[in-house]
Amino acid sequence: MKQQPSIFEIVSKFKSEESCIAHFERIRWPEGLRCVRCKGERVSKLEAIGKTGKDRHLYYCADCDYQYSVTVGTIFHDSHLPLTKWFLAIYLMCSAKKGISSKELQRQLDTSYKTAWYMAHRIRLAMKDDDALLEKLSGVLEVDETYIGGSRKGPRGRGAANKVPVVAIKERTSGKIRMQAVENCSASVLKNFIREHAEPGAEIHTDEFSSYLWLDSSKFTHRAVNHGETYVRYEDGKPVHTNGVENVWSLFKRGIVGVFHKVSAKYLPLYLNPDYS
Ligand SMILES: [Zn+2]
Repeated sequence: MKQQPSIFEIVSKFKSEESCIAHFERIRWPEGLRCVRCKGERVSKLEAIGKTGKDRHLYYCADCDYQYSVTVGTIFHDSHLPLTKWFLAIYLMCSAKKGISSKELQRQLDTSYKTAWYMAHRIRLAMKDDDALLEKLSGVLEVDETYIGGSRKGPRGRGAANKVPVVAIKERTSGKIRMQAVENCSASVLKNFIREHAEPGAEIHTDEFSSYLWLDSSKFTHRAVNHGETYVRYEDGKPVHTNGVENVWSLFKRGIVGVFHKVSAKYLPLYLNPDYS
């Protein structure tokens, strides 16, 4: 596994707007500058001074007579913030094991709270998009659901009012996890989630919740454990349990309490993408 860079490396590598732009150009256009609109190669760089007196780094395409910035079409677009702050924000958000609050981001980046919140929101959206490209999980997978947020009063467990249902799937050998906030825990919702993340033929361990019964006649092998009786049972000498995914819940809930304090249902899906394994 590639080791994570230190904050010192990040700050020294991306100390100026120019160094960030050079990096960004390399990852956006690895084969040389291309027009974002017509993909043409007759692109030149323009140095201009913006309304605020800062340098604006622009590109001009001679093929389609179009002028654009390096950030057009990205999460940084239309932002007055320097890329140096964006890059550091991304680093901080990706390296914090239990996530990072907007308040902490505000402190570390020396911005207003509103700005920090906006950056965090955009970065989470980008991470979410990334998830769609991930490979499906395989082998033994544990699936479980929980309810997060809302008031403490009222019924516990499945169907609890005010709470957001969240479903997770964990690949046992690698520890990889995918989580998603869902509207409810009906069989069809869980079916969509499992089909999206699990390789056909995978062995899926769940508890005996009725919304998993369809798995018995599906492309997956289903092994259920009755939590009223035991937490681990053995089938063909191999353990059937959902302990791995349940450990994720406790870590996640502590993260919510410790870092995000309160999470509104509206934004919960955006907090569910970091790798908690
Ligand atoms: Zn063009």
